[in-house]
Amino acid sequence: MSDGDGRLVSGKQRTDDRENIALRPKVLNDIVGQDRVRENLRIIIDAAKARKEPVDHILFYGPPGLGKTSLAHVVANEMSSNIRITAGPSIERAGDLAAILTHMKQNDILFIDEVHRLGRAIEEVLYPAMEDFALDIVIGKGPAAKNVRLNLPRFTVIGATTRLALLSGPLRDRFGARFRLDFYDQAAMEFIVDRATRMLKVEIQPAGLSEIARRSRGTPRVGLRLLRRVRDYAQTRADGIISGTVAEDALALMEVDELGLDDIDRRILSTIIEKFDGGPVGLENIAAAISEDSATIMDVYEPYLMQLGFIERTPRGRVATRHAYEHLGIVKPENGSQTPLW
Ligand code: ADP
Repeated sequence: MSDGDGRLVSGKQRTDDRENIALRPKVLNDIVGQDRVRENLRIIIDAAKARKEPVDHILFYGPPGLGKTSLAHVVANEMSSNIRITAGPSIERAGDLAAILTHMKQNDILFIDEVHRLGRAIEEVLYPAMEDFALDIVIGKGPAAKNVRLNLPRFTVIGATTRLALLSGPLRDRFGARFRLDFYDQAAMEFIVDRATRMLKVEIQPAGLSEIARRSRGTPRVGLRLLRRVRDYAQTRADGIISGTVAEDALALMEVDELGLDDIDRRILSTIIEKFDGGPVGLENIAAAISEDSATIMDVYEPYLMQLGFIERTPRGRVATRHAYEHLGIVKPENGSQTPLW
């Protein structure tokens, strides 16, 4: 089973994405797209600065690769704050979090990626820390144990999650500002890829740019990854310049189709259509049929297929739409036509 990391068009971070760090937007003005998020952050940041206070706790949610981590860094840069980075699964014990919290300084930012994966006991430590800037610790054991409350400096927690629904209600409520990140449109993706070509000193023609942007699933991480792969192709199979044809040929070789779908996306769609008569079918059944992890399907593949209008989520399961049939070139049976008339 793969967790989606092996895919060229997965929004999840892969080890070969490290080069992206240099390409990260640094300040709010570097952010293209996500207009609503940017405007709201501008207000929150300006107001906090005017009051000389840390910003409120912020939660970013949405599919991987859309800029949640980048935005956390942007907030830190704009606030001139130190940022400390951790992730839900790496905080194993309440003591781990207590150690992090006792090292926080006034105005520092604690970025917690995959915040939905924090254990309950750890959340219990985080609640008072976020609400009252206090850390409750127990000293000693047995009947002699004593509860002690330590005051913490005022700091900011920025959480990121691909699964808002998995966040416990109390934790969600402690984030004063919550922002959903959306897929980027074609113009924003072209801007982001173009900016990267200049930083990477790659020569690209407008047709090449629009081809890469169109196949990036509205996801900057995917766009930057495709750009690097197409650059390699242009260097070895062409004259180094990314023209429309070079981009098309390179992406076809990588089996990324004109909408950015890869083999696994197509298998999800054809499984719903061919094995389950177009649905409705439960996520677990799809996952089993293609040997994928259901959480990965939900986080990585499905959001974009839903955005394209290829899949619908219904109370009884996933349904493939007419657009999905058309994209795969399969004729959709008319309603009831599969039922014999006699
Ligand atoms: P997430 O945390 O949502 O998975 P990241 O913040 O790590 O996503 O972003 C993935 C990559 O995409 C980053 O390395 C960054 O270079 C790029 N990126 C994300 N959002 C933007 C943006 N709005 N403009 C330019 N580049 C972006």
